[in-house]
Amino acid sequence: MDDNLQRCVICRRGAEPAAPLFAEDFYPDTWYHLACMHSSAGAAWIRAQKARDPLFKRYNELMTQGLPVQCPTCAGDAQLYPKATGWAPYDWEMNCDQCDNFIVAGFNAYTHPEITEQLEELFDNFLYANHLDNLDGAIADLAGQYDYLVTDSKCTCGGNFSIKAKPRCKRCRSILFDTYFHYADQGDE
Ligand SMILES: [Zn+2]
Ligand SMILES: [Zn+2]
Ligand SMILES: [Zn+2]
Repeated sequence: MDDNLQRCVICRRGAEPAAPLFAEDFYPDTWYHLACMHSSAGAAWIRAQKARDPLFKRYNELMTQGLPVQCPTCAGDAQLYPKATGWAPYDWEMNCDQCDNFIVAGFNAYTHPEITEQLEELFDNFLYANHLDNLDGAIADLAGQYDYLVTDSKCTCGGNFSIKAKPRCKRCRSILFDTYFHYADQGDE
């Protein structure tokens, strides 16, 4: 690809030695400077895209580190984090099926790519709202095949860590959000 064709979607300038362009994950052929995306102009661009494109809004929120959510049962505040992102994106967090605890799974992209590649594909489908009808079944299949790798350590609450466990509220243990691909952090209370 010709670098000269790539322009920052915020400032319209090209790549510079001290300011390379990064590919925007959601839209093809969309580029940005890190400093531009983190500026108020970048925040305005994200707000405008979210307002005009519901799929971008979904994607952007589901990939947010620390997305604020409210427990549907007790109205407690919580924050959601996408699994397998951040400093160690090869590690997958696994929720307890009874409480808000999570662990780092006993498999990762290096030791068990046959699992993580399937999880990544399902996570992508979830982010882009593709094939959502098949999601529960596909996750249940993976849990049936591979949960033995995450159930070695039982949760202190008596529950089991599982590929199919969704994030739960620390206060009332209700499911916080209908997702297999996030864990919750409500901080220390
Ligand atoms: Zn820029
Ligand atoms: Zn709650
Ligand atoms: Zn637990």
